[in-house]
Amino acid sequence: MTCDLINLATTGVAGLHPYQPGKPVEELERELGISNIIKLASNENPLGSGVKAQLALSSTSNLSRYPDGNAHDLKMALAGRHGVNTDQITIGNGSNEILELITRAITGPQHEVIISEHAFAVYSLVTQAVGARAVVVPAKDWGHDLSAMQAAANENSRIMFVANPNNPTGTWQNIQSLRTLLESCPEQMVVVVDEAYFEYVDEDDYPNCIQWVNEFPNLLVTRTFSKAFGLAGLRIGYGISHRDIADLMNRVRQPFNVNSLALSAASAALGDIDHLQQSVSLNQAGMKQLTTAFDNMNLQYIPSVGNFICVDLQTTGQSGIEMYIQLLHQGVIVRPIDNYGLPNHLRITIGLKQENEKFIQALESVLTGLDVGA
Ligand SMILES: *Cc1c(COP(=O)(O)O)cnc(C)c1O
Repeated sequence: MTCDLINLATTGVAGLHPYQPGKPVEELERELGISNIIKLASNENPLGSGVKAQLALSSTSNLSRYPDGNAHDLKMALAGRHGVNTDQITIGNGSNEILELITRAITGPQHEVIISEHAFAVYSLVTQAVGARAVVVPAKDWGHDLSAMQAAANENSRIMFVANPNNPTGTWQNIQSLRTLLESCPEQMVVVVDEAYFEYVDEDDYPNCIQWVNEFPNLLVTRTFSKAFGLAGLRIGYGISHRDIADLMNRVRQPFNVNSLALSAASAALGDIDHLQQSVSLNQAGMKQLTTAFDNMNLQYIPSVGNFICVDLQTTGQSGIEMYIQLLHQGVIVRPIDNYGLPNHLRITIGLKQENEKFIQALESVLTGLDVGA
């Protein structure tokens, strides 16, 4: 019998490709024969995790027991922090899992999911995995065009994903535009506002959508411990919503989806104000350092409120991939984003001061080399 196992894929899965993670730094160092490579490619916290989270990790014992599947302690802490009830909170294996849970819980092949052009890749992945149709709405000034997204909604639309701010572009939506969206969207469509970079944003007009979950029953807000809290390796994030939405996600969630180390580190990290403040101010200074350098080099960039920034290489005659490879040989890993429909941009994660400096020097040196060759 000859059976092509690949043909077993469901329609949605047949069109998916496995995620290509970046190579480990050590492997690249061996391949390129250089050392001290720095990685500014995954929007991780350059300070690492905080002391309180590390202490919580080293004092977590009973690893032979299953974790608290209901995440009681962390939910209590989050409920207090955000002024919501614990039954409105869903804890995920990274906030990516929350995005997947809501999609699996309420969408099927007959449904549509509304996503912006250049939006975070996970939205279309989870949509396609359940066989739903992703409706991709053209971006406006690199960001989400919320009124066009709202206009795309119909009775088959089940989810709209709004990244605020968006990764990779760093663009954001203000209070008024998000409220207008929520007020005009059909109630049977869940609006997921992904606030993975919330803690970094310092704009008066930037909304904290968690404050609105009791007003809009179809609103789901997601946050993560992976970015400003520095716990990406532990995989933990959460969603806050109406309790019925939390109930639906709880039905498809694995009983022990988040491990005990992640749960205790996250609770501790929530209380580590110093680490959070240091992370945020380091990011602000680093953002300034990079934008100043880009200005000096006459390079355009997309203004970003996250811990990363997209620089436009159009004027250099280099594509993002070409520049990425040249920077790699200078010992700096950044992120080409051609797969986001941005072939002329590179996304750089804000690093430590000396890492940013190394990146700036590497970029200058590549650009100088280009001038000489021209
Ligand atoms: C990094 C990121 C996340 C968070 O992913 P985790 O699964 O929590 O690590 C979610 N949304 C966006 C837009 C991101 O960039």
